[in-house]
Amino acid sequence: MAAAMEEHRRYLTQLDAAIGDADHGTNMHRGFQAALERLNGADPDTPADVLKAVSMALISKVGGAAGPLYGTAFLRAAGVLGGKGELSAADLAAALEAALEGIKQRGRAEEGQKTIVDALAPAVRAAREAADGGGSPEEVLRSAAEAARKGAEATVEMEAKKGRASYLGKRSIGHQDPGATSTYLLLDAAVRGLE
Ligand code: ADP
Ligand code: MG
Ligand code: MG
Repeated sequence: MAAAMEEHRRYLTQLDAAIGDADHGTNMHRGFQAALERLNGADPDTPADVLKAVSMALISKVGGAAGPLYGTAFLRAAGVLGGKGELSAADLAAALEAALEGIKQRGRAEEGQKTIVDALAPAVRAAREAADGGGSPEEVLRSAAEAARKGAEATVEMEAKKGRASYLGKRSIGHQDPGATSTYLLLDAAVRGLE
């Protein structure tokens, strides 16, 4: 994920330049570099410990809306995984569901408002369907990433109702949401991590 945020830093910042304050790529890059640093010294025992370390780094190092929102998402995901060492398809779906709930609560956001939720909510539905249908953990992540990609693309037509982009009102229409796009890129990175 840190590599993806590095690779796509400029792209995410360009998206944010159109409807925000041109820092989303910088914010995400800074946060995930901090997460890497934290993990390098940490020696975490479980997936939940990794997610917690990432959460702390994002919350403490990222100014702006996305840091606390993603920080909450990682923390909630850690919470449902507990001390598990190996994750099933159902665990991944549950972790994504908890992440979405965390973001919706923290950001008071619903689908259709041109935010992270518009990528993560369809990703969660796809993950749940894949897990309930007997899919492997890898299939769960793949379905989630694919749904997030489509969800992020669908934000182009939406009018922003939350965050800085909402100040633009109808002028936010016609641009893809930076946060929905980073959600897709993070899930896509998770899939690549399995390859
Ligand atoms: P800032 O807007 O503070 O500069 P970023 O640029 O890092 O923060 O993040 C902007 C992204 O955060 C938006 O593209 C949007 O997806 C997401 N976002 C903003 N407010 C909310 C919210 N209330 N709920 C969910 N996501 C939000
Ligand atoms: Mg911004
Ligand atoms: Mg900002």
